[in-house]
Amino acid sequence: MSLLRKREVLPAVSDRFEKDVVIVGAGFSGLYALHKLRGLGLDAIAFERGADVGGTWYWNRYPGARCDIESADYSFSFSDTLQQAWRWSERFATQPEILEYVNHVADRFDLRRDIQFDTQVVRASYDEAARRWQVLTDKGQLVSARYFIVATGCLSVGNVPDIKGRDTFAGPSYHTGDWPHEGVDFTGKRVAVVGTGSSAIQSIPLIAQQAERLYVFQRTPNFSLPARNQPITDGQDREIKAGYAQRRRTARYNSGGVNRIDPTVGALQVSPEEREAEYERKWQEGGLNFASTFMDLRVDAEANETAAEFVRRKIRGIVRDPGIAERLVPKGYPLAAKRPCVDTGYYETFNRDNVTLVDLQASPIVEIAHSGVVTSDAAYEVDAIVFATGFDAMTGAIHAIDIVGRGGLPLRRHWEAGPRTYLGLSSAGYPNLFLVASVGSPSVLSNMMTSIEQHVDWIGTCIETMRATGADTIEVMPSAEQAWVEHLNTLANATLFPRGTSWYMGANIPGKPRLFMPYAGGVGRYRQLCERIEARGYPGFRFGRPDADHATDSPASSPAAPFDIDALYIKD
Ligand code: NAP
Repeated sequence: MSLLRKREVLPAVSDRFEKDVVIVGAGFSGLYALHKLRGLGLDAIAFERGADVGGTWYWNRYPGARCDIESADYSFSFSDTLQQAWRWSERFATQPEILEYVNHVADRFDLRRDIQFDTQVVRASYDEAARRWQVLTDKGQLVSARYFIVATGCLSVGNVPDIKGRDTFAGPSYHTGDWPHEGVDFTGKRVAVVGTGSSAIQSIPLIAQQAERLYVFQRTPNFSLPARNQPITDGQDREIKAGYAQRRRTARYNSGGVNRIDPTVGALQVSPEEREAEYERKWQEGGLNFASTFMDLRVDAEANETAAEFVRRKIRGIVRDPGIAERLVPKGYPLAAKRPCVDTGYYETFNRDNVTLVDLQASPIVEIAHSGVVTSDAAYEVDAIVFATGFDAMTGAIHAIDIVGRGGLPLRRHWEAGPRTYLGLSSAGYPNLFLVASVGSPSVLSNMMTSIEQHVDWIGTCIETMRATGADTIEVMPSAEQAWVEHLNTLANATLFPRGTSWYMGANIPGKPRLFMPYAGGVGRYRQLCERIEARGYPGFRFGRPDADHATDSPASSPAAPFDIDALYIKD
């Protein structure tokens, strides 16, 4: 495994050059940022640690990897020619097909010529005198750039738990987020899968079909919903293509950034029979929409429990052994407080004779030995271990870069108690730094494609505005940042999200600050707020000019005044 880690020793500088923009990452967000900013006439370069484009879809090649957002939604909308040309083959696309799409996008827009692969950005410091970022790569390049775009993705730094004896294991071990490109053949092998999140739940049914024996080490049972994946017929493809304009409009202004009308009825407002029928309909439809069957499932514990109980009954109905079924049933936290999973045959896999569920709540892993995994009450001899143990989500890849802002303040220190941003777009003290679809914005609670495009478009318009007005820096006001941090907490605390020990909360990484990192107010509301801020002259930001720093401060952004986010929302 070669997972991304923070570099302790910086390389010596061997090459220096200037660019208008440095972008970190060539996943979907980096690619679109490159296309957009290049289109504005900016001289941009993207650095990508992988050997090719794709980001998460480049690295996550484990068996069964596919998207759980429908293909027609999980695609770029910025070019109608692109969306009309590309033909998705399945409702939920596989990782190879998505990677093919990413490559198609890179080729169609000739993006590779401005991407340097196999290169990690290790440091970026803001030079206050030059009013530019000095960006250092692991190849010793020092790039001076006006803008620094962090498009590192939310799930790019793998988490391999520090289990005693991990390195003494005799066989191969893999992390789902760093899967060998040539694939892995588990035929005739005894395999351990540690974890039961989305990656595990997708890979377990396929590994079980191949392996001689599969041990699934489960710490927390997850809610998983059936995908009901199917091929997209030619007729459906024509319909999708004819309906893109409406589909995208809907996705941009609803809660999740997908083609769905948000529910307006609460689970407790209908009779138990109606509720059950509605859950059954969504269950049969398949996919994540089940978690949005009623409008109150994310905010009302009693309402949520009706949906959770429905899923529990389904699990008990699928898994034949009642003891195993009971251990697979998620309890003690609301449905969707941890990211729900979408599967094909996950629960059915536990009806196979070659699959064993190991309940780590009853007997935790104590060590990994030469021959396998040892829990407090048994030793499991295996030939291979799959760590499906998730990611240092959202902040991991940002902090893997040593980002230093005004006054030499490292971002890691500024964010010591958790990420601090305004709109999830930038942070006070880090002029001209933009984050794309990461902490502080809807990002992982939404269809990432919708959120990426919205962020990149906003950044593009902002830079155009700066050029039109002669500003060369934009910077978040500390008061706006503070208000946004509080606002994110208020939004999260009005939901059930904080009741799950999830990666949304940083709860999966020992020592990481516990706070809900994304924006929980929904894609549409967030987009309208960003549009408002743009239309009103960017309150919460201050602009600087080469001749008079901060001369164009927005009056709404007076540093002394507390910043009122609520006043900026469009009232219904
Ligand atoms: P994850 O959801 O964080 O799941 C990690 C699993 O590993 C959890 O079951 C966790 O248990 C377990 N684990 C972690 N440390 C452990 C330890 N020391 N001992 C035992 N078990 C341990 O990670 P993921 O499955 O890779 O998914 C991450 C996110 O990626 C998803 O939530 C989703 O947003 C995205 N994803 C999406 C898709 C898709 O589109 N279909 C597919 C894969 C991933 P606990 O729950 O007890 O911590």
